[in-house]
Amino acid sequence: MIRTGAQYLEGLKDGREVYIDGERVKDVASHPALAPIVAAKARMYDLHHEAEAAPKLTYSDADGIHSVFQQPPRTQEDWHRKWAALDLLLQDLGGVATRMGDETIGEMWSLQDGRDILAGIDPRFADNIDRHIRDVIVKDPFHVSANTDPKGDRSRPIEQRDPDMMIRVTKETDKGVIIRGAKFETAAPYADQAYLKPTVGAWTDEKESIHAVGCIVRMGAPGVKHICRAGFAHVGDPRDNPIASRFDEVEALVVFDDVLVPWEDVFFYRHTRAAQQVRATLHRYSAFPYVLRLLYVADAMIGVAMWNARQTGLEKLQAVQEKLADLVCYREGIRAHLAASIALAEPSPAGLLMPNQSILYAGRVMACSQLPVMMHAARELIGGQICVTPDAAQFDGEAGQWLRKFYTLNDQWDADDRRKLLAYARDLLNSGYAGHRLAFVQFAQAPHFNHLAAVYKSFDFSGPLDFVKRAASLSDKVDGASVKPVGKAAA
Ligand SMILES: Cc1cc2nc3c(=O)[nH]c(=O)nc-3n(C[C@H](O)[C@H](O)[C@H](O)COP(=O)(O)OP(=O)(O)OC[C@H]3O[C@@H](n4cnc5c(N)ncnc54)[C@H](O)[C@@H]3O)c2cc1C
Repeated sequence: MIRTGAQYLEGLKDGREVYIDGERVKDVASHPALAPIVAAKARMYDLHHEAEAAPKLTYSDADGIHSVFQQPPRTQEDWHRKWAALDLLLQDLGGVATRMGDETIGEMWSLQDGRDILAGIDPRFADNIDRHIRDVIVKDPFHVSANTDPKGDRSRPIEQRDPDMMIRVTKETDKGVIIRGAKFETAAPYADQAYLKPTVGAWTDEKESIHAVGCIVRMGAPGVKHICRAGFAHVGDPRDNPIASRFDEVEALVVFDDVLVPWEDVFFYRHTRAAQQVRATLHRYSAFPYVLRLLYVADAMIGVAMWNARQTGLEKLQAVQEKLADLVCYREGIRAHLAASIALAEPSPAGLLMPNQSILYAGRVMACSQLPVMMHAARELIGGQICVTPDAAQFDGEAGQWLRKFYTLNDQWDADDRRKLLAYARDLLNSGYAGHRLAFVQFAQAPHFNHLAAVYKSFDFSGPLDFVKRAASLSDKVDGASVKPVGKAAA
């Protein structure tokens, strides 16, 4: 079954505890800070039911018709279909939304790759992951990711901190485990469920820990409290915030105040080996849709910079063309990494098809680490007017005649289009929301050091080692064996 937008909205009426701007939210779907992004997610559901879009967004199996976004990838064609489906979605929405479910569901496929480890701990845990992956396909929930604990002062051992700084199990009951702590999560206030697991952390030599827990938590379960950061969507005139007013994906500190997680929703508990496996392979699939979003961010930057160059007649200057070419190289670099990761995809331990890990992770580093540079290149190309242009209300007001005079460029470009382009460019590159999105890209799928660690662990060093061994005539005493721990070798 693929849900409709209306069914998704109905599911949010589960009495969930959401706070924003110091107040409890009565209705998530209609609160002005959340309504636009909730509507975008509802639109994603509805698109699957529209005659023209449905063939691109769905596939069928013995149980019925399902979303391509929830389909575990088995072939290169599956990946190309996911890419085309995302293209259709973002073109329809007219902007970039990242935490839409497709970008987090891959974390569960990674866990299934480690199913033998889970089965070794407790066969029920391995069955739980199989059943949940199937449930996501069949029931089509909106699924997000919960990794990051507040953590506290890490110069102290965890026993010397407030124990709630890292999610922990406080009690086992016949029904399940009771968890306590908090996580930072994008989109949790308007999602159905989160896959919760330990944060990036150094497990030492301990074999068991109360913090080593991985499970599904329902976002409306008793004891789950969503304390949202300040929103961008409902602040100011949407004409001045054309992106933030539609695509603000609200983050929350999600507090778990003694939340019961039924045994059937637990994937692992106590065993640090399972937690290590999860952290080592978490973004094996989900890095793909994450990086793919940046292709559209790059298109937005190229688009605003090029329209601006055309409006102002600067497009013909060679120096301006070179700066535009820099943006194109960034964009095509992202596309090349994604395309190559499909072309050279690798079988996973559980029989799925992983994008080529070394290429995908290298692409993630390139796309994320170069974004600040590219945003600045686009900002510089557009010039100072993105930060000095008066807001839309001024164009309507008494002084509007002066603004229309100085913002009209020629017969084709009137003041209204000039203002709209500059407002869009500002919200993409210069506004508070633009800065927030930059932080999102740098952190939301783990921070930079973790991205580099993924590259280090997935790259096969044996090629360069062997090459230099021969080129430098090193003796046979030195060993250039591969240190590649991914795929079957890592299982
Ligand atoms: C906009 C946004 C959205 C987010 N959405 C989600 C979400 O949906 N789900 C979720 O679980 N989390 C989410 N996060 C949280 C994100 O995963 C964390 O911010 C990230 O993991 C870093 O954790 P931290 O902020 O506690 O930083 P810290 O762990 O305090 O690290 C701060 C900095 O210290 C340095 N550092 C720390 N440890 C090391 C190390 N071992 N090696 C090298 N350098 C190190 C790095 O420079 C690092 O960036 C989001 C964050 C942002 C900003």
